[in-house]
Amino acid sequence: MTAPRPLATGAGLLERLMATVRPEFRTGEEFYPPPDSPVFFQGICRIPACTRAVSFSVKGLCTHHYGRWRRAGMPDLEAWILCEDPTTRWRDNPPGCSVARCGRASRGSRPLCARHTEAWQRAGSPDLDQWIATARCDPTRRDDRECLVDGCPWRTDSPSMTLCGRHYIRWRNNGHPNLTSTQMRDWFKVLELRRNPYIRLHDLSQQIRLEIQFGLQRRHDLGTRHTPPSIVSRAVSWIRPAELTSLLDWDEADWLTFHQARPRGLPQHVPRLHPGHPLRAGRLTDR
Ligand SMILES: [Zn+2]
Ligand SMILES: [Zn+2]
Ligand SMILES: [Zn+2]
Repeated sequence: MTAPRPLATGAGLLERLMATVRPEFRTGEEFYPPPDSPVFFQGICRIPACTRAVSFSVKGLCTHHYGRWRRAGMPDLEAWILCEDPTTRWRDNPPGCSVARCGRASRGSRPLCARHTEAWQRAGSPDLDQWIATARCDPTRRDDRECLVDGCPWRTDSPSMTLCGRHYIRWRNNGHPNLTSTQMRDWFKVLELRRNPYIRLHDLSQQIRLEIQFGLQRRHDLGTRHTPPSIVSRAVSWIRPAELTSLLDWDEADWLTFHQARPRGLPQHVPRLHPGHPLRAGRLTDR
C-alpha cells in the first residue's frame, strides 16, 4: 500500500479539538447518542411497549424485535406486533407480585414473586386467584430490603440480596459481574444506555477519538444527515487498525488503498474528509 502522507494538520489541533468538542460528545470509550436525535435515530421501535431507539430499521423494529420476528418465521407483521407487545411489556416492566403488601417484582409467567411462587407450590398449587385473595404478607416480619438500583420500586427476595428479582435476572443474564453497590448502580445505568444503538470508541488515540467526536458533534449540530451508530461503529473498526495520529494523515485515496483488501469495501460516512471539511480546513470554531 501507499505510505501514509502526512497532511498539514495545523499547530495545536489536539488543543483546539479539546476546546471545541463539547462535554456531551467527549464521553470516553462509548458514545450514547441522545435517543430523541433525528440525526442518529429514526424513531422508536414499532412495538408499543418497547422504548428502544431505532437507527437503521427494517420493518420499523429495533434489532432485538427484528431478530425475534425473524426467529418466529416472519409471520404477518401487524398480527405479530399485537402478540409481541404484551410479552415485551411483561419482560421489560413486569408487574409487582399480586400478594397484598408484598412489594416484590413478579418472576416468570405468574404474577407472583419467587417467594410467593414457592409458597403457592408448597400449598399444592391451588387455584391461583383464590390463593392470591387469601395470601397475606406481614410487613412487621419482613426481612427483605429495597433494591439498590436507583428508582426501582421493588424489594429483594431475601436480606442477603441487594437486587430485586427483576434486576437480579438482568445482572445474571449480562455476565453477572462482581461489583460493589456503587459500581452496581453505575453498571445498571450503562446497561440501560446500551439498550439503544451506541458507538464504541475504544483503543483509539486521544486525538483520533476527539476527531471522530468532533464529526459526531458536527453531524448533530447540522441536523441534516442521518448518521446511524452502526455505520459509525463500522467505520471506527476500520480506523482503529490504521494506527494513525490523525484522520488527516491520509486522504481519501490512502483510505481506499488501505481498505482495498477488505471484503466489504469502504464505509460511506467516515472517514471521508472532503477538502472543505472543517476538520481538514482547521475551522474548528465552525459549529
Ligand atoms: Zn423493540
Ligand atoms: Zn410476593
Ligand atoms: Zn430492582
